[in-house]
Amino acid sequence: MRAKKHLGQNFLHDDGVINNIVKIIRPKKNERIIEIGPGHGAITQYIQASEADLQLIELDNDLIPLLEQKFASSDNVQIHHMDALQLKLTAGPYKVVGNLPYNISTPLLISMLFQAEQISEMVFMLQKEVVQRICGSPGEKNFGRLSVMLQHRFDCTAHLVIKPEAFNPPPKIDSQIIQLVAKKEFNQVPLPALESLVKQAFQQRRKTIRNNLKKVVSMAQLEIVGIDPKQRPETVTVLQYEELTKLLVKDTD
Ligand code: SAM
Repeated sequence: MRAKKHLGQNFLHDDGVINNIVKIIRPKKNERIIEIGPGHGAITQYIQASEADLQLIELDNDLIPLLEQKFASSDNVQIHHMDALQLKLTAGPYKVVGNLPYNISTPLLISMLFQAEQISEMVFMLQKEVVQRICGSPGEKNFGRLSVMLQHRFDCTAHLVIKPEAFNPPPKIDSQIIQLVAKKEFNQVPLPALESLVKQAFQQRRKTIRNNLKKVVSMAQLEIVGIDPKQRPETVTVLQYEELTKLLVKDTD
């Protein structure tokens, strides 16, 4: 079957890499796991063998019959023919895993973040550049919107970098495995307010935080959370973004 570019199809064929991902996923009997984009089932077959309670989310019409056939005798596997971006999680917590189609990885991560209370952990294969952005630390050039948003709710670990040859067809870029473990305790901040603040803060990276936020934040508010107005947005910590959001929400109440 030809790979469909518009569905981000780069199928894993390297057993070493597949083993590595499965080791990081650590599937257990009866554990509720959702796999996004199972494709031909390269990772799926190992998760299925662990007797985890597995839900597969696949958009490609042509792959559904193939998956149905492959897992016909597996009572612990359910196949859903749908767009992962429409996924509404209930009755969690779930481990959400997958070798994600690169074209939907950022919106999918944000969608999962907004449903974080239903998620215990996520293990994804992503573009290396996206993993570096998510796991970036303040002061690094990778640190940005995605880092602040995801680190707010998840502990992020970057694992192996995977070369294009592990896939068929090979993508043009390197990939990397990321593990995002939901924080048991986190700063209670309204997510849409944090999202909106962070979006404005990083609007122009070369500008100071004061300049990017001047329409919404006062000098005094920056000072309260210990931000120097001359700082660049990528040097402000996740905690400071969270505290600033809390302050703004409180002041508009
Ligand atoms: N897991 C397989 C593997 O590692 O070989 C396939 C990974 S491939 C990078 C991405 C998979 O996601 C494909 O099977 C593709 O059809 C599926 N896909 C693409 N867009 C999707 C969407 N919006 N919702 C669900 N699945 C999607």
